[in-house]
Amino acid sequence: MSFVSEFNSLPAPSLAERSLAANAGVVRDSLAKSKLSLADFANLISPAAAELLEHLGRRAHAMTQQRFGKVIRLFAPLYLSNECINNCQYCGFSRDNPILRVTLSLDEVKREAAELRSQGFRNLLLVAGEHPKFVSNNYLRECIAALHAEWPGLSLEVGPMETEDYRPLVAAGADGLVVYQETYDRKVYAEMHTAGPKRNFDWRLETPERAYAAGFRRLGISPLYGLADWRYEAICVAAHADYLLRNCWKAQLTISLPRLRPCAGEFQPLTHMSDRDLAQLVCALRLMFPDVGLVLSTREPAKLRDGLLPLGITMMSAGSHTEPGGYTGAGRKKLHQTVRGRIVPAGSSEWALVGRASSRAESDVPEASDGSSVASPHQKQATAATGQFEIADGRSSQEVADLIRRLGYEPVWKDWDAALTA
Ligand code: SF4
Repeated sequence: MSFVSEFNSLPAPSLAERSLAANAGVVRDSLAKSKLSLADFANLISPAAAELLEHLGRRAHAMTQQRFGKVIRLFAPLYLSNECINNCQYCGFSRDNPILRVTLSLDEVKREAAELRSQGFRNLLLVAGEHPKFVSNNYLRECIAALHAEWPGLSLEVGPMETEDYRPLVAAGADGLVVYQETYDRKVYAEMHTAGPKRNFDWRLETPERAYAAGFRRLGISPLYGLADWRYEAICVAAHADYLLRNCWKAQLTISLPRLRPCAGEFQPLTHMSDRDLAQLVCALRLMFPDVGLVLSTREPAKLRDGLLPLGITMMSAGSHTEPGGYTGAGRKKLHQTVRGRIVPAGSSEWALVGRASSRAESDVPEASDGSSVASPHQKQATAATGQFEIADGRSSQEVADLIRRLGYEPVWKDWDAALTA
């Protein structure tokens, strides 16, 4: 039985209602338990529990230190391609967005990875849109094989696949798979995903199980907060995590906490989740799942990331770019638009203009190591592919590592499980 069966009988809407109606008494009862149920979790994310946020924070902080010590693992996303055949209303890479696109060659991928390695990273998340023509399974396998020797931690965030298609990627050296369900609300999911294979909600929901069957030993899940009610999403992701811990127990599980960020297409969040809600959710997830990794990306601003870190975060990205070639300028000579799977010149795209094409200023784009020419500022041509979304914490990886040390934690650049088994 897959999680889809459990999900279909999950009383998530009534648990979300129960959460809204919870009082301080039931919150305290839940806090007194050594093992929490999903109903207890709903109590901990309630408005009543928000009144006890300081207490929740102290408990979550102590539990995190007890289970994980004073370390924060760092990782970097490496975007391979921003080609995509799906239309996801909230994503800059949606196929109908007239953005600047590129798929990095193997050499360009190696160049990006070398830059991240020189910064200290040993844990990499390879990200790509879903486009079989540009991002084939073979291309992914070659990228993984090319990086495996130097990267003890290699995870993927790419279009979902069949178990049999995942196996060669695991054999090539990938050990982690991240897949956001985006929203656990079927109705909102159908409205958000208007074209492409991603429309299949159940297929996506079962992805972590297929990945586990193929041999991935690190699994990452999450909704994207800002599409449906955050309490409903949190209850569903908690149920999903609980299922995976029971059924995919050899894998190390992480839960991410992404909130929607501005992107091409200028989609506005449908629901609001405040900073305080996010802090409460970090605490509740930690108390519910003492050993699960909690991941916070550069979607959140620096000050908030610094404040959330001690509550239960165990893993952070740093110095991130969400455009392919963002770390070195790789691929800049191949920028184009893609229309119905065909590459067309980028000139007519509004995203070809500097200022729209990248969250970075043009002057920030480093020179290509091959000495390739760059459009002059007078030409106003963009020199970078379009990013998936705008990041909010623009600090360099070293600045983030320094901050982690100042907070009394040790930044760990390598995934420790992989290090132990290497
Ligand atoms: S969210 Fe993923 S699948 Fe959807 S458009 Fe963006 S890259 Fe493509």
